[in-house]
Amino acid sequence: MYLARRRTLWTTVAAVLLLGPVVLTVWRADGRPLSVVLTAVGVVALVTLALTIVAPARLRTLTRTFGIDRIIGTHRWLGIVAIAAVLVHLAVAVVRSPKLWNPFTASLSIQWGWWATAAMLSVGLVAAWGRRSGRRYEVWARAHVLLAAAAIVLAGLHVFWLGHLLEDPVLRVVLSALTLGFLAVLFLRWVWRPLFSRDGAYVVYGVRPEGPSTATLVLAPVHLHRGMRFHAGQFVWLRLRRSVLGSEEHPFTIASSAQVTGRLELTVRGSGDFSTTLASLPPGSRVWLDGPHGSFSAAPEAPGLVLVAGGVGITPMMSMLRTLADSDDPRPVHMVVAQRPDEPLFEPELASLARRLDLRITRTSGRRVDAGLLDDVVPGRGRRHLDWFVCGSPSLLTGSLAAIEQLGVPAERIHSEQFGWSGAIPVQGTRRRESAR
Ligand SMILES: Cc1cc2nc3c(=O)[nH]c(=O)nc-3n(C[C@H](O)[C@H](O)[C@H](O)COP(=O)(O)OP(=O)(O)OC[C@H]3O[C@@H](n4cnc5c(N)ncnc54)[C@H](O)[C@@H]3O)c2cc1C
Repeated sequence: MYLARRRTLWTTVAAVLLLGPVVLTVWRADGRPLSVVLTAVGVVALVTLALTIVAPARLRTLTRTFGIDRIIGTHRWLGIVAIAAVLVHLAVAVVRSPKLWNPFTASLSIQWGWWATAAMLSVGLVAAWGRRSGRRYEVWARAHVLLAAAAIVLAGLHVFWLGHLLEDPVLRVVLSALTLGFLAVLFLRWVWRPLFSRDGAYVVYGVRPEGPSTATLVLAPVHLHRGMRFHAGQFVWLRLRRSVLGSEEHPFTIASSAQVTGRLELTVRGSGDFSTTLASLPPGSRVWLDGPHGSFSAAPEAPGLVLVAGGVGITPMMSMLRTLADSDDPRPVHMVVAQRPDEPLFEPELASLARRLDLRITRTSGRRVDAGLLDDVVPGRGRRHLDWFVCGSPSLLTGSLAAIEQLGVPAERIHSEQFGWSGAIPVQGTRRRESAR
């Protein structure tokens, strides 16, 4: 209930931020109808672009309320709406005065608008390009961020140079307040946290091998009293240097118990250059964490849990199980583990956790996670009241979420997290809504 209320609150805030300036613009406008439409659509484009940038700016309250997959999905949709709005704005502007068609003969304010449009279209193209597999994530991510920054700065210059929105005292106050809020979020995300915040400073205490390509990084907070408080299932962004754009940062789930804040464990499978480097970090190395983020956590009132883990997607489940064990939680847990036969993770520890908890573990042994398998694991109608968690590769997520929905589990009881955002993000509940259309 608490989460539902927080979601309603933030959705209302987003709607007010999106619609408020537009309604205000129309209310204060006194020009011809076409000019009013032109300005209103321009404001929609500007505000939507700003929200597109704010959504993934790692506000913990947002990632905790909606979960990172929903945030990234919303970010993509807002971006599409912003681009559509800017194209409509451009079309209306050219219909109203055809000489604007040529950016080279137009005034400076119009030129800023043209370049902002070009930057926004480039962001869209780079985003679509980055989602195709095989692209280097960091190159793509940096190009995406820089183009988005160029788009919002150019759009701001366009509005500022045109001046007519700012001539109205009410609009001037509202737009200035929104701009200050926007800059504060960006400062927190891009300056304060990566360069100055002391909360995320950690030191490598040791590295524990877990399998041929997987290792656990044991971290201790540099400032002991600043050990991170988190909910089991949340994740952090990890970077190896203090810098803004110069240092890579990657998301990893906290695998250790949420009852222990003086030590944090991240279990990482080497899938590329960054994740492989982590296994060779010598003790004493400094790392910086931004977190905790995400809403992939069990509600205290859930009567029991079903955990479906694929590969290294077992990390949030390990945090949940370790936390449940540390707090002597009696709730029943059903766990489905799909793993590569050459790298069974945490086998001895899972066996020991099964003795401490009411935990039943089913290994898929190569079988697909489908409705039949899940029906065997959790038979009966009571499963609809349990909280279901799925984490792993996109294919495991897609198959498992479809199977869970087939079993009639309500969407609000299903939670999923995908390790990577290059492709489509299957978020629970969408399939049912699609089929209901
Ligand atoms: C919420 C979340 C939690 C995760 N938790 C874990 C975990 O506990 N253990 C684990 O081993 N892995 C986890 N991952 C996956 C991990 O982040 C990637 O495997 C890692 O970033 C790969 O980086 P690389 O340079 O080694 O490989 P690359 O070959 O560069 O990347 C492989 C793929 O990883 C994804 N990726 C790369 N960099 C980033 C980035 N900065 N942000 C988002 N995605 C990226 C992209 O989809 C990319 O195609 C998690 C991912 C997410 C989104």
